[in-house]
Amino acid sequence: MKVLVINCGSSSLKYQLLDMRDESVLAKGLAERIGIDGRLVHERPGHEKLTFDLDMPCHGAAISWVMDTLMHAEHGVIKDKDEIEAIGHRVVHGGETFTKSALITPEVEKAIEDVSELAPLHNPPNLVGIRACAKEMPGVPQVAVFDTAFHQTMPEKAYLYAIDYALYEKHKIRRYGFHGTSHMYVSQQAAELLGRPIGELKVITCHLGNGASVCAVDGGKSVDTSMGLTPLEGLTMGTRSGDIDPAVVSFVMEKEGLNAQQINDLLNKKSGVLGLSGVSSDFRDIGAAAKEGNKRAQTALDIYVYNVVGYIGRYAANMGGLDAIVFTAGVGENDTYVRERVCEYLGFLGVDIDPALNAKRGTALDISKPNAKVRVLVIPTNEELVIARDTKAIV
Ligand code: ADP
Repeated sequence: MKVLVINCGSSSLKYQLLDMRDESVLAKGLAERIGIDGRLVHERPGHEKLTFDLDMPCHGAAISWVMDTLMHAEHGVIKDKDEIEAIGHRVVHGGETFTKSALITPEVEKAIEDVSELAPLHNPPNLVGIRACAKEMPGVPQVAVFDTAFHQTMPEKAYLYAIDYALYEKHKIRRYGFHGTSHMYVSQQAAELLGRPIGELKVITCHLGNGASVCAVDGGKSVDTSMGLTPLEGLTMGTRSGDIDPAVVSFVMEKEGLNAQQINDLLNKKSGVLGLSGVSSDFRDIGAAAKEGNKRAQTALDIYVYNVVGYIGRYAANMGGLDAIVFTAGVGENDTYVRERVCEYLGFLGVDIDPALNAKRGTALDISKPNAKVRVLVIPTNEELVIARDTKAIV
């Protein structure tokens, strides 16, 4: 069975075609600048990356180009659309409606639309992708895989905010959490790597990418996570503030004369390590600047590390123990400095990593010294594979 995985953003569309017989990736790529001009980056394993400038006035056009490219005589990997037996979509917000992935029906589409106000930047483009695929490949079953679903096992004490309960009842204001597909995947991989049943493990997974979140996984279930109603809460991120005193919002709005949209932009796009350092949101740039003596860049890194440590400590305490910490995503998988600094703090918990193993990259690895009580694992995430697996299982 061949499954096409689609991750549709407001002006971009990532795709991956997998052969589920052996879970191999046949091709993957990115259509970007949709609605502006249009560019398609297409990759096949063992071949050079190709870039095409193409006219993409809308997502429908982008999907058509993706299909043309997948079927291209020279760069393609399939002969006919019919070879694609199912399509899996990343959908960011499933609200309280979706506790697991779902076959897309008109009712499911409506339910995704209903929770769109909780993720106005993400759910509408996800729906656009679903509708564009339905038009391009009518009759092919589609599945929605939600970023929030894995976290629906959180208990009330973890997901309720201490605000007027009526706001939860009226507007469903609560913690939802994101990156669920990634937290689920790496926690399961961790159990495999450790050779222990996941049911008996307490794991803290750190998904540190552009967006970043930490998740407490107890016995294979998410019991708490750092992102909240939206992906703004929690850790300091590339451009997002993470946790701040909520009173900062009205104070800055008044002082700077900002409206709701502008303060939202400030906290989502101009804060985090970018706002702190004034250098970049990319950890490679910040690390380089800090090495050259840029004090603000160093402070940004210190704050970032301090916050990751804070969440690990909190979740270890909340779970009453800890067997393993997992690092994943862009920063988590690649930034040896961040890992080293985080682990330095956690010696008192029984964390003790081997610097030589910490310097390695690319594959799933236990980077702890043999006698370390809490294992530290680096595990490359693979959200597309989870989406494809769920899609296959449901179809
Ligand atoms: P996204 O959240 O967009 O999926 P990724 O998980 O791909 O993001 O993470 C992207 C981030 O990872 C970049 O912004 C950069 O800060 C960081 N990153 C990537 N490679 C490295 C590296 N070699 N060293 C340090 N940080 C890296």
